[in-house]
Amino acid sequence: MGRPTPRPRSDAVEIFTSIEGYRAWRNGLAPDATVGFAPTMGALHPGHLRLVAESRKANAFTVVSVFVNPLQFGPAEDFSRYPRPFDEDVRLCREAGVAAVFAPEAADFYPPDFSSYCEVEGLDEFLDGASRPGHFRGVCTVVLKLFNIVKPRRAYFGQKDIQQALILKKLVRDLSVDLEMQIVPTVREATGLALSSRNVYLTPDEKTRATALSRGLFLAREAWARGERSARALTGILRSEIESSRPARIDYIEAVSQADLRPAETLSGPSVLAVAAFYGKTRLIDNVLLD
Ligand code: AMP
Repeated sequence: MGRPTPRPRSDAVEIFTSIEGYRAWRNGLAPDATVGFAPTMGALHPGHLRLVAESRKANAFTVVSVFVNPLQFGPAEDFSRYPRPFDEDVRLCREAGVAAVFAPEAADFYPPDFSSYCEVEGLDEFLDGASRPGHFRGVCTVVLKLFNIVKPRRAYFGQKDIQQALILKKLVRDLSVDLEMQIVPTVREATGLALSSRNVYLTPDEKTRATALSRGLFLAREAWARGERSARALTGILRSEIESSRPARIDYIEAVSQADLRPAETLSGPSVLAVAAFYGKTRLIDNVLLD
């Protein structure tokens, strides 16, 4: 068996807003057709399109979901103002060779009597899990439901949201979900700033200052490559770079083990250095892998 032949670009992209509509299309594919899946909240940028490109290399069909999932937003977060440029998202998907966009309505996806949730214990005690209570329960619930609808062979997630990717990998393993998880490197602007749908909230000045996140992460990674293993030293390098960029607030700076996402004093195995900070009212996250 050779590699699957991806559909040529510029084919029409199918758009489904109902679960039934998507399922009818999915059931019409050949039984051995490979589907690659990239779940998103829309406002697509080249980071999302990198997931699509990876999927197209390995699967006959690529499906993108566009769904701003209310379950993963806290009450004081940006759910209602999150950008929703749907027509532009569809255009980008079509140009990228996506076969189908699944964009359900929240009211259909979560009927009023919805009451089933999915949680991965243990990996959400630090980093975003500590700052955003209930966030990963919302993420795990939506992604498991999407997996059940989309029925992918492979699913693609960005390293940009490393805690999310590692939690979902564990979910797939623990619950024997029958698919392969792929983690795709973070796509950045030339300045180093990680692409994010939330970057549109930044003023030009905030955007310039926020480049300190990646600069600090890269400086710390260089120190790690030279042999520095003290978490205090590595987070210190990152913190001083970020503090000099006058963020409104640093939420966390942590060096954690990739295995359990817990802070370690001395980094021994594969680790992650991660940061969340506010520039103006916008909360940005970024990380580098140390492995
Ligand atoms: P979102 O729409 O922000 O929920 O992101 C959807 C998917 O795209 C997640 O798997 C993200 O980790 C991934 N993603 C977001 N930004 C980037 C980026 N700059 N580089 C690579 N993947 C990304």
